[in-house]
Amino acid sequence: MIAVVKDTATPEQLDHFVSWIHGKGLDAHVSKGYNATIVGLVGDTTQIDPYLIEGMDIIERVQRVSEPFKKANRKFHPLDTVVDCGHGVKIGGGTFHVIAGPCSVEGENLISIARQVKAAGATLLRGGAYKPRTSPYAYQGMGEKGLDLLCETRDELDMPIVTEIMDPRDVDTFVSHGIEVWQIGARNAQNFPLLKEVGKTKAAILLKRGISGTIDELLMAAEYIMSEGNPNVIVCERGIRTFETHTRNTFDLSAVPVLHDLSHLPVCADPSHATGHTRYVTPMALAATAAGADCLEIEVHDDPKHAWSDGAQALTPAQFKDAMTRIATVREAVTMEVE
Ligand code: PEP
Ligand code: MN
Repeated sequence: MIAVVKDTATPEQLDHFVSWIHGKGLDAHVSKGYNATIVGLVGDTTQIDPYLIEGMDIIERVQRVSEPFKKANRKFHPLDTVVDCGHGVKIGGGTFHVIAGPCSVEGENLISIARQVKAAGATLLRGGAYKPRTSPYAYQGMGEKGLDLLCETRDELDMPIVTEIMDPRDVDTFVSHGIEVWQIGARNAQNFPLLKEVGKTKAAILLKRGISGTIDELLMAAEYIMSEGNPNVIVCERGIRTFETHTRNTFDLSAVPVLHDLSHLPVCADPSHATGHTRYVTPMALAATAAGADCLEIEVHDDPKHAWSDGAQALTPAQFKDAMTRIATVREAVTMEVE
């Protein structure tokens, strides 16, 4: 971290600032230039609040030179992390997977949707049993019965399950059901007690970007999970809130290569929640594949008009099959060797 000191600072004030830095257990490198004095704070600055320093009378501005996320940072872990989701599915490190299924688990239609997405090439099955709805009056999910249905389907089809955990008190239920991939939804992206709790497990975590979350905030949320001992995190771009209203969110596809650059964690992209409209899901799934996502998450429903949640963005199984053929072609194009 670097602090630029104002021209008006007296030598006493500068000494006082240097002592303050030492008091925080850090070294201070003072460099007096022609126009400005710069103080480098050397050591573990993760505990230092840059705004606190910026608020000091003699400080002009403060700049971080290293990111505050350490465990998720590619600098300290250059190789891609591969997250083992069970049933032979490993995400990251050059593989490509598609998670598909309904927004919510609704009942017996789950198995037929699951069979169809698997036949089309999906390797993980999604379905929400606990639903984070904006309105408390909207459908809230089947709860544990929904998890039971997901498990029956998994056992029949030999595919790992992806489902959302919203409450730290559900950790034991998720463990006892052997849920392979625990989704942390956009609304819980900064629910720190929940992040810490799932960090104490060894489950694979699909961590979504917050509704208005920055890339750094997403990586800091991953850091919360990893700092508790769970390295199995997949980060997911699912669109962010902007002023645009034609789509449910704005799909920030540049986040995919940026996340790959900053972090070794696998990157998932969700064109369903990003766009909110069936007709935009396939084009943006192709774009996310082209951008280098390791994994896509796509909502599929056998009767979208009667879906209990997110029907407006669901692909039918036939549309999903069509999308998968195109996705495979794009994936091949972006991973081919060019001489
Ligand atoms: C979901 O996957 O159904 C969901 C609610 O996603 P998000 O948290 O990205 O809105
Ligand atoms: Mn949904």
